[in-house]
Amino acid sequence: MNKNSNLHMKTDEFRKQGYKVIDWIADYYEHIEEYPVLSQVKPGEIRSQFSDKAPINGRTHDEILDDMNKIMPGITHWQSPNFHAFFPCATSGPAILGDLISTGLGINGMSWATSPACTELETHVLDWLVDMMDLPGKFKSDSTGGGVIQDTASSSSLVALIAAREKITNGESNKNGLNSRLIAYTSSQAHSSIEKAVKIAGIGKNNMRLIDVDESFAMKPNHLRKTIEKDLKSGFIPTFVCATVGTTSSTALDPVETIGEICKEYNIWLHVDAAMAGPAALCEEYRYIHKGLDFADSYNFNPHKWMLTNFDCSIFYIAERSMLINSLSILPEYLKNKATESGAVYDLRDWGIPLGRRFRALKLWHVINYYGVKGLQTFIREHMKNTQTLRSWIECDDRFEIVTPTPLTLICFRHKKGNLFTEQLLEKINESGKAYMTHTKLNEKYVIRFSVGQSTTTINHLKSTWDYIIETVNKMELS
Ligand code: PLP
Repeated sequence: MNKNSNLHMKTDEFRKQGYKVIDWIADYYEHIEEYPVLSQVKPGEIRSQFSDKAPINGRTHDEILDDMNKIMPGITHWQSPNFHAFFPCATSGPAILGDLISTGLGINGMSWATSPACTELETHVLDWLVDMMDLPGKFKSDSTGGGVIQDTASSSSLVALIAAREKITNGESNKNGLNSRLIAYTSSQAHSSIEKAVKIAGIGKNNMRLIDVDESFAMKPNHLRKTIEKDLKSGFIPTFVCATVGTTSSTALDPVETIGEICKEYNIWLHVDAAMAGPAALCEEYRYIHKGLDFADSYNFNPHKWMLTNFDCSIFYIAERSMLINSLSILPEYLKNKATESGAVYDLRDWGIPLGRRFRALKLWHVINYYGVKGLQTFIREHMKNTQTLRSWIECDDRFEIVTPTPLTLICFRHKKGNLFTEQLLEKINESGKAYMTHTKLNEKYVIRFSVGQSTTTINHLKSTWDYIIETVNKMELS
């Protein structure tokens, strides 16, 4: 932006167009329920509307904004109150505004010195969260650990694994083929990002052990112990265990305490992935999900899923920050500065994969300030209560079967007519655009995942979606 240049957008024009963009976003939210939740376009349909070559002469911002009409049909409306697929990406007004300011500032917080507020606000807000969720004190910055915002849970697991790898090999993981003897453990229900992390970290898929789960789809600690013992006998080095609090398929809760005791006994790094479930601990009555977290070397949850903070924002805590910094620290000449040399500051580039970092703490800080702890608790409690009400409706219809417990806000259910019928039912619902749900397979059973968690989802939305499911089933049974 510039007052005088003819090349750049002038500040007055920016102001005018900026108001229009805010109006555009506000209108979008006001009318969001009018869109089909799942985009109905065919592959290539969106691209085909645009010229093959980029414009030679620039266009007005009004023209560009008009073109959003061509783009909108290709949007799946994650913020719709009828979006029940995957896990949510619940956003909020304050988060969007905080992110806008971050974009406007346009900073890169790679080092403390490149924008001290970026690092300090991040550390500060993450310390707040430790208290807000009653997490172990060792995750606080005034202790041995600390927190950092990563882009995703996938990156959080990866950096945890890298720190574990470097710890067990004293920073020499590629010496004497040590890498090939390191083993990572997680349950067969863990998120695919753990397998990806194992591949990226050079441990390799063959050195990953998938531990069996019990009837609630939670990891079986006995099987973990037996597998570790077997690996030790074969000369392997058990390195990393990832326990999941709230698995992706069914929100199963791994028994973190028992797993933690095993990790302690065998000196294995314990990472706890609570990507979706974590924010439940904002409420005292759900803190049981974190029982045993004291054993964890690292922990992650995503405010971009269920804490009103728009994507991306994934919180990563570590008990011994030196483990992470020693693994990822770099200091080329061009990044040297007095603050770094003084040792009095954190350079958060050493706490994650990329050098450059967005000012993500700003949106999280907006959210926490705007809602306060009480507002965030109300948000979580509403979803928990509404999910149980929805579950009770499903239970009342004996054509359906709920296949897993519902500790949080995900219901896994199926029609008793079996896999094919359930799959066809899901397709019909999604094609209708009235709601969007996804599926998983549990013990070879095809099940619909009905995930509650969007910011604007109320009990009335759940009721109309449930009514529509019943209506669709009735029609299917007649045909
Ligand atoms: N872990 C769990 C338990 C998840 O459910 C998910 C995504 O749903 C992830 C990790 C990956 O999250 P992200 O997209 O932040 O990498």
